[in-house]
Amino acid sequence: MPGPPGLPAAVRFIVIGAGVHGLSTAWHLARQLRDRGTGDGSDVVVLDKTAVGAGASGIACGVVRNNYFQPAMRRLMAHSVSVWESEPSTFSYHPVGYLQAAPESMRAGVQQIYAEQQGIGYSSTLVEGEAACQSYLEDLFGDWRGEGITNVLHEHRGGYANNLASMHGLASKAQAEGVRILTGVRVTDLELSAGAVRAVHTNAGTVFCEQLVIAVGPWVRDLWTMLELPATVSVRGPDGQLRSGVEMWRYLLLQEGTLGVDPGMFTDVHGGMPPVMHVDSDAPLYDEDGELVTDEMWGVYYKPDFSFGGVQGGSMPVEVGKPAAEVAVDPYGPASPEFVVPAEFARMWTAALAHCHGRFQGTRHLYKDEHSGGLGCFTPDSFPVFDTFRQNAFVIADSNHGYKMIGVGELVAKELLGEPQELLAPFHFDRYERGALHPTSSSPFPWS
Ligand SMILES: Cc1cc2nc3c(=O)[nH]c(=O)nc-3n(C[C@H](O)[C@H](O)[C@H](O)COP(=O)(O)OP(=O)(O)OC[C@H]3O[C@@H](n4cnc5c(N)ncnc54)[C@H](O)[C@@H]3O)c2cc1C
Repeated sequence: MPGPPGLPAAVRFIVIGAGVHGLSTAWHLARQLRDRGTGDGSDVVVLDKTAVGAGASGIACGVVRNNYFQPAMRRLMAHSVSVWESEPSTFSYHPVGYLQAAPESMRAGVQQIYAEQQGIGYSSTLVEGEAACQSYLEDLFGDWRGEGITNVLHEHRGGYANNLASMHGLASKAQAEGVRILTGVRVTDLELSAGAVRAVHTNAGTVFCEQLVIAVGPWVRDLWTMLELPATVSVRGPDGQLRSGVEMWRYLLLQEGTLGVDPGMFTDVHGGMPPVMHVDSDAPLYDEDGELVTDEMWGVYYKPDFSFGGVQGGSMPVEVGKPAAEVAVDPYGPASPEFVVPAEFARMWTAALAHCHGRFQGTRHLYKDEHSGGLGCFTPDSFPVFDTFRQNAFVIADSNHGYKMIGVGELVAKELLGEPQELLAPFHFDRYERGALHPTSSSPFPWS
């Protein structure tokens, strides 16, 4: 079958997936080949079954933060934030900062994050004690009223970017280096020979390659199968015991939605853009009718966003209740008939906004009743796997941490060109068997 214009018979580097990781890797590969005088963008082809930003990167809330309990994640995010900052307008990046407000049970973890941010020169402010936090948040917003917050970590870098606009910005950077991005090309199988990937079979023909990059977000389960890698793995826990038969992939539904207000109604006290807000709380949460929503720990994030047309954000993800093999990833995101945000989300999330700010009192009816959210594919420990499999296939499986990780592609490109990257090493696959797992925090989110 003839392929789309430009589908080559062979190319040095094939990148599968035109999301943040595939596009960033392709762009950086092209640049680095050129800088080294060993090639250029014509050596790199990106294949996507649908379009640029057709996966998680195109629907993500777009929050960019450093706030991680795990030192290896923090170092990686600091690197990515510097890439966002390098060209804010191309990447549609808004450096408004990121503020976490948390209860006493999370204080030690927040203190540690702050101390380590100072250690790597990442600018942030820590506020401690209920009265001090209340007054910091009141000074910032004027209408803050969320009780029980005893620690605030305000990151002065980070913020958010507009999901699709930033993907098109990245795509234009890659194309300007001569990378070909071919859409409507679905990879259907991989040809393995002598333990390495020799060619990629697609709905439009076969392409031979020297190196492959797999950056397919929630579809990683399928490419993993094509690599003939096992559906279960062995994981050595903190007790030193090796547990076998752990599912390699697990799907969660990311819950996000939009309050259809004028985004300009959510400003700071000076009328400026507020930081992206993330609130974890153990205060009982009530809805507008005074009914208890939850008396357990809850967490939400939110920001004004003109591209979503309101105040947009989310809360904790939910299990999909099916083994990975049975989850239908397509149609993806808001187009899914099955995996979109359930109605209970609106009640909880709008209650949380009103719990935190007087201005959101009585606005629940403005919540946009539309399909939103989408699936994320998580690894056994909910942290990324960045590693080479089958000798020449680099898998970028970010375990849903990844829109903010715009810099990972730069590191992957260097590694592909023979320079092992220290920042990627803690995310190698053999950590499961070695028991070199990342520390876990007391946050209700699996990605903190
Ligand atoms: C609702 C939601 C909100 C999120 N919010 C944030 C956030 O605020 N901040 C943050 O950092 N992260 C966020 N994330 C996570 C983040 O979006 C993902 O971790 C990241 O976008 C994954 O990027 P990717 O490049 O790996 O994959 P994707 O962006 O999913 O791209 C994969 C691409 O691969 C293509 N593809 C798949 N299979 C094939 C095939 N067989 N052949 C050819 N092409 C194929 C798809 O069409 C798709 O375009 C969110 C995720 C969701 C779902």
